[in-house]
Amino acid sequence: MSAKPGTLWHPCTQMKDHEDFPVIRVARGQGIYLFDEGGKRYLDAVSSWWVNLFGHANPRIASAIARQAQILEQVILAGFSHAPAEELAERLTALAPAGLEHVFYADNGSSAVEVALKMAHGFFRNQGRAGKFRFTYLDNGYHGETLGALAVCGEDLYSEQFGAIMPQGNLRVAGPDCFRCPLGLAREGCDAPCFQAMGETLERHANEIAAVIVEPLLQCAGGFRIYPPAYLRRLRQATREAGVLLILDEIATGFGRTGTLFACEQAGISPDLMCVSKGVTGGFLPLSAVLATDEIYAAFYADWAERKAFLHSHSYTGNPLACAAALETLAIFRDEDVIARNRPKAALLAELVRERFGGHPNVGEVRSLGFVTAVELVADRATKAPLPAANRTGLHISRAGFKRGLLWRNLGDILYFMPPYVITEEEIDRLTRDARAALGEVLPEGEAR
Ligand SMILES: *Cc1c(COP(=O)(O)O)cnc(C)c1O
Repeated sequence: MSAKPGTLWHPCTQMKDHEDFPVIRVARGQGIYLFDEGGKRYLDAVSSWWVNLFGHANPRIASAIARQAQILEQVILAGFSHAPAEELAERLTALAPAGLEHVFYADNGSSAVEVALKMAHGFFRNQGRAGKFRFTYLDNGYHGETLGALAVCGEDLYSEQFGAIMPQGNLRVAGPDCFRCPLGLAREGCDAPCFQAMGETLERHANEIAAVIVEPLLQCAGGFRIYPPAYLRRLRQATREAGVLLILDEIATGFGRTGTLFACEQAGISPDLMCVSKGVTGGFLPLSAVLATDEIYAAFYADWAERKAFLHSHSYTGNPLACAAALETLAIFRDEDVIARNRPKAALLAELVRERFGGHPNVGEVRSLGFVTAVELVADRATKAPLPAANRTGLHISRAGFKRGLLWRNLGDILYFMPPYVITEEEIDRLTRDARAALGEVLPEGEAR
């Protein structure tokens, strides 16, 4: 049975678009494939919004959840605890960059960002420095869509309609833009002189800034923009010098997506606060966590009467089913040497996309980091001028992909590949061939526009 159109209001969607292009109803999933109700198969090229790691209906994770559901499905996490939440906290702190010793759970990425922002301000407030209330963030950064998270989003698409109701006073800084570098530099080996804008903001506003929040190495929702590790190293040093906390949002980049368990490992830095979510449960259940240093934890630890406790909670905080899924996900990483085994497959994906897309007159850049490869479409390769947004070229290409059996989703005129790690080399070949055919259908070569 189908619901009346519109009864189900879809996220991030102009519902009217579906008058002439129906939503695809998915009946089941297995491995990298999803099957609609007519039995048509779709290869999940975007890991179902960047969450799935080891395939749909993964038997190990499914069994772990089923086992846990028969033991303890949920319990209040204030005043009570349970084995999966404690074990997961131990595992996460063991795997995380040095210095992150404490785990605070929430249940989605945006909430983890809210937690990190509140913790950062609370850290200073509890030390009598309530004037440190601003957050600094980058152009094209994305940190979720609740109001606090939106107020540190440097991608106007998501925030422009809500300016009137968003927290004010944060500081936005021009960040690295390697594809259209204003300094004319190349990404590879770059020492990130563009850090200057951030450096100046930190110096000028050090007394007001609680924290800087960034997505390490890869800004996903803001356009799959890859930037050099040198930028992060400079940021770590400058935040230390300014007495400002560093929040790394590893919600999309974490759990192997960029080629290391966490992206910040590639810069050799540790943040003060780190947000994780998305892949943490292998894509099965919503869960997020903020990892914090001892110093931050200690700033909230005091006699009750001092009113320094971190007051934040969600009903499903540390849900046992989600923690069980996360523990099994981490066990798969350990048992199957996932990071090393991903490497050749990720390299093949990058290579085939470069080979098949790179020569098209509307492809401005093909860029890859770990198991993410993005194709930025342009109107003109020489000027890098974007395609007219009103053409919705990317949307038409991803729809042409649906016809060819891809579950694909464009980000404006950026096409990207972010498949589950269990994809095979043959499937990578098919994925990139079908995707290239979809591009050719919408933008035939010789008719560049
Ligand atoms: C997806 C995402 C979020 C928000 O997570 P939700 O679970 O969708 O709220 C935050 N930061 C980054 C980098 C993300 O990619």
